[in-house]
Parts: sequence; structure tokens; C-alpha cells
Amino acid sequence: MLKMHSVYAKYALAALVLVAVLLSFVALAAPKVSAGNLYAGNLHMHTDCSDGEDSYDAMVEESVRLGFRFIAITDHNFCPNYIERCRNETRILCIPSMEFTTPNWHMLAIGIAKNPAEEECIGAPGPGPCDGGLSLQETVWRVHAQGGLAIAAHPANGLPNKINAQDLPLFDAMECDHPSYGLAQGLETIMLRNGAPIPCVYDSDAHNAESLGVMYSVCGLDNLTEEGVKAAIVGNKCRQSGLLAGI
Ligand SMILES: [Zn+2]
Ligand SMILES: [Zn+2]
Repeated sequence: MLKMHSVYAKYALAALVLVAVLLSFVALAAPKVSAGNLYAGNLHMHTDCSDGEDSYDAMVEESVRLGFRFIAITDHNFCPNYIERCRNETRILCIPSMEFTTPNWHMLAIGIAKNPAEEECIGAPGPGPCDGGLSLQETVWRVHAQGGLAIAAHPANGLPNKINAQDLPLFDAMECDHPSYGLAQGLETIMLRNGAPIPCVYDSDAHNAESLGVMYSVCGLDNLTEEGVKAAIVGNKCRQSGLLAGI
């Protein structure tokens, strides 16, 4: 009787092992969670093409070293050579972009083909930023017409003009914190967003490679592509990270 039991026990154990092995294969083959995979990225940085200190290559290399998987080089003035390099970048997903000065303060134009005020700014006295005399609304329309996203950059530190709660619905997202913010600007941002809920992104606004890790986003992406990053932004799937996150 005892012997019979031990034979059954052996079969039962073998069946359990088989089921466990089959389940582990099923788990490996299971589709990824719908929230997507988490990737770190930084959509606001400057090179020596505008007012940054370091070269395009230095910014890309440090971004790779920090583990970012996507970046946007957002020089103040449209830098066609750097935009082209970004588009052809192989070390990291680089999204052609710029930081545009509107009459209501700074806007990140993410995933664009050209300066929204390209024609108006031909021959504009440099090297300062040129808004082409376009209104905020016209600028956002032109960014959208190119398939780009309009993101309100550090809305709480613009003076004397500021992006306010009435302007905010024009944008696809806003920077909901910034490395330069003090307590008052942090509270202002919270109030702004309470008045007009909008997806958040977090960036370093680094003007040198050393500052790239102070603040960045970790986003849930379905695809590590430009379209995947854009979808995560408008889907509010980006969260804050970095040395100064939450301070
Ligand atoms: Zn700015
Ligand atoms: Zn900036």
C-alpha cells in the first residue's frame, strides 16, 4: 500500500513539474503590460548652438551614459545642422525639436520638421530668439500642423509675460517642475495645473552635460519611437525622476 502511494506521489510530482514548466513558458510568452515599458528620457536641453556650453556630441554621450533612451535637443534658435544630426542619430532616439520663444514665454516644440516661424524669422537680427511676431495660438497650430507637440516650458518662471491657466489648454503638456524652481514656483505650478489639468513632463533644461541628470522623465512607452514618446506624453504616462526630483 505504501509502495503504491509512493508511485502515485512520483507521478503527481512529475505532473506538477510539467505544469510548472508549461506555466513558465506561458508567462514568458505573455504580452507586455498595457502601461508599456518604462524608459528614461530628457526632452529639454541646450547645446553650444544656442546658449548651452557643451557640444551636441557631449550632450548625446552624457545622455547615453546616464541611461536615457530618448532625448530632444531644444536649442533656442532653430539649428538646422543639429536638427539634421538629431534626426539621423544612432546612439539614442533623438527627437528633432526646439525651444521657441512665444509672446507668452517659452514653448518646447517636440518632433518638428522646421522652425514654426521659419519664414518670418529669415534675416531676423540674431543671435537672440525670434518669435516671428506670431501669437501663441498661431505658433501652437503650426507645431501641430507638422505633427509636433507643444509643451509649456517652465511656465512658472516667465517674466514679465507668463503662460496662464487660460493659455494652458492650447498645449499638449507642460513641464510640471524645473530644477530652478523654488517653493513659490512649485506652488504656482500646482495651482496652474489645478486650473487647467494637463499632462506633465519633467526635464533638466540642461545648459551643460553635467546638469543632464538633475531632472528627467521616466515614461511608459508602448514603442521606443518618436511616436511612442509623443503618445506617452499626451497619455500622461511620464513621471518625475533625477537628483532634484520632488525637492
Ligand atoms: Zn526656457
Ligand atoms: Zn531651455
